[in-house]
Amino acid sequence: MQQTKFLLDESEIPTHWYNVVADMPNHPTPPLGPNGQPIGPEALTPIFPMSLIEQEVSAERWIAIPDPVREALSLYRPSPLIRAHRLEAALGTPAKIYYKNESVSPAGSHKVNTAIPQAYYNKLAGIKRLATETGAGQWGSSIALAGQMFGLEVRIFMVRVSYDQKPFRRSMMQTWGGQVFASPSMETQTGRAILAKDPANPGSLGIAISEAVEEAASRADTNYSLGSVLNHVILHQTIIGLEAKKQFAKAGDYPDMVFAPCGGGSNFGGVAFPFFADKAAGKNVRLVAVEPTSCPTLTKGAYAYDFGDTAGFTPLMKMYTLGHDFMPPGIHAGGLRYHGDSPLVSQLYHEGLIEAVAVPQLATFEAGVTFARAEGIIPAPESNHAVRACIDEALRCKASGEQKTLFFNLSGHGHFDMASYDRYFAGKLEDYDYPEEAIRASLANLPKVG
Ligand SMILES: *Cc1c(COP(=O)(O)O)cnc(C)c1O
Repeated sequence: MQQTKFLLDESEIPTHWYNVVADMPNHPTPPLGPNGQPIGPEALTPIFPMSLIEQEVSAERWIAIPDPVREALSLYRPSPLIRAHRLEAALGTPAKIYYKNESVSPAGSHKVNTAIPQAYYNKLAGIKRLATETGAGQWGSSIALAGQMFGLEVRIFMVRVSYDQKPFRRSMMQTWGGQVFASPSMETQTGRAILAKDPANPGSLGIAISEAVEEAASRADTNYSLGSVLNHVILHQTIIGLEAKKQFAKAGDYPDMVFAPCGGGSNFGGVAFPFFADKAAGKNVRLVAVEPTSCPTLTKGAYAYDFGDTAGFTPLMKMYTLGHDFMPPGIHAGGLRYHGDSPLVSQLYHEGLIEAVAVPQLATFEAGVTFARAEGIIPAPESNHAVRACIDEALRCKASGEQKTLFFNLSGHGHFDMASYDRYFAGKLEDYDYPEEAIRASLANLPKVG
């Protein structure tokens, strides 16, 4: 029988995270403050602990993972690397397909990989409470769980529409002890001001970020926590790619191409950057970020300084952006509805060292169903983007007869997204055209820098 699962022992959980900055040809562009000047680490101390700020600006190649973090991660790590024999057979492709199964975390996605170290470092710094935002609820559930593990109170501002539409994600956060507020809320000045004008405001990620940041900045016992985009978040996620490299060594194989869905860039960076280290050393491996055609940040955005949030509270970061006030059409991969992208991912893409493709919504669900019927796991709508791009490449291999080794990150399962699958089966899901006009209008509002 052919080997399907490539597993590691707990003792093989990586001892260090990999920092891609050490292997980038050019130093990362700095974040800028309101005056257009680079901000120093001290500007971030009201909302982040110094240990995470140091990781944010570090150029060290390897950063040690503290033992209590490795121990907490061992609840579900190492995650399996799976050879998708049944999918290969269903497609009739000569390509070999592997995927890393990040759906095995208790919250069902890769986001727990950074929630655990973030809770740990905040606890160590004497912080009592974390404030954060969540859209679809995947990040909120991950940080609620991590807060519970390290004895921190977690306060989650959940976008009002999701709060109403995804009650079970909310129950999950509550089960792990998180306090969930529909945003805009009465907990903050930002929320109260918005509700005074518009009591039925449906909320947005931008508003929820503003509420969480306001709370963290105004209380000494409270810090802010973010689930993607920032350098330290991607650093924590490199545990995915580092494990995968050990597993490929066991399989006696190595990927020609690595695919991952890309919203803020954390699971893409997490799985791809450890392979970038090999690429920087001369190895031939292609790294492909996959995004929705309706929110095509890398493939259609501008590479420019922009705010990380809608309201313009955050420092300016140089990244691919559709404009901080761009509102993507109602797509079902909530985790991919972000106007910007990780500055590290953006810079590597700008320099032509990684690739990006955009795929339409219906095709991603079709790929997810094909995958589920062959491999069993029902992927998250976000993960379906990587599944689509990988299947497309496998079908090209079928046409050409090439025996490529393809690898993608299954970033999470779709058990809380079955309503989206229902809509797909009922023929009610739509493809949204690339919203050229909306993007052009939003890009016209980019902050003027330099
Ligand atoms: C949040 C999320 C994503 C997108 O976020 P990244 O930071 O780009 O990784 C992808 N897949 C799942 C399952 C998610 O929860």
